[in-house]
Amino acid sequence: MAKRREFRKEGPAKVKTLDLKLIDSLEKKYGPLWETIWPEEYSFKEPFKKLIITVLSQNTSEANCIRAYNGLRARFNITPQVLAEAKQDEIKEAIRSGGLYNVKAKRIKELSKAVLEKFRGDLSTVLNFPKEEAKKRLMELPGIGDKTADVLLTSRYSYQRVIPIDTHFERVTKRIGLVARDADYNAVQKALMHFLPEERRARLSGLMWLLAKNTCRAKNPKCYECPLASLCEYKIKKEVS
Ligand code: SF4
Repeated sequence: MAKRREFRKEGPAKVKTLDLKLIDSLEKKYGPLWETIWPEEYSFKEPFKKLIITVLSQNTSEANCIRAYNGLRARFNITPQVLAEAKQDEIKEAIRSGGLYNVKAKRIKELSKAVLEKFRGDLSTVLNFPKEEAKKRLMELPGIGDKTADVLLTSRYSYQRVIPIDTHFERVTKRIGLVARDADYNAVQKALMHFLPEERRARLSGLMWLLAKNTCRAKNPKCYECPLASLCEYKIKKEVS
């Protein structure tokens, strides 16, 4: 009862940015995990390869995504020209190990054609536009929403200036209380960017993602071992309810 009164009086945590102590805790807990989860070899700078791996990563594990990508590149050069002309069934066979291969093969072919038609096969030309304009043009590609467009923008701007918001980022940002539960994509992105100090944002966004995926799980979040528990609105509410 005492705790409930205290929460009502003080309200939710007012968080602006991470302090050094919390940054250290994030680094200690999730830093060693980073390289094991997403090998540097697959962090492409080339935007078309980034696009393909983003399609392959949907609704599957990192390991399956990499397996599918390796299957695809063993059979085809990863270029819009080659994949636009490839038979859909052959793409399907090549990525079979990654799950949802029917849908993904269709998307890969459609996107390859669209990149050829709209951008003459070169996505880097669109990335040379100012950030907002580039995003708008990327979202004209079939099936490309905010998140995938932002993933492509990281080829030029890095994670210091663009954080693509996936379901993990959305969940942790809302639970901590950086935005309201019904906040949209742009509001979540803005709040998270503000939360992570700019000079270390690229690294910290990776660590926050690992926290969201491994600790702030959709079901049964492991608040008892979370480095951000002291400032988390969800945790505070859970304690007083
Ligand atoms: S304290 Fe719990 S709910 Fe809050 S961020 Fe950590 S794991 Fe998620």
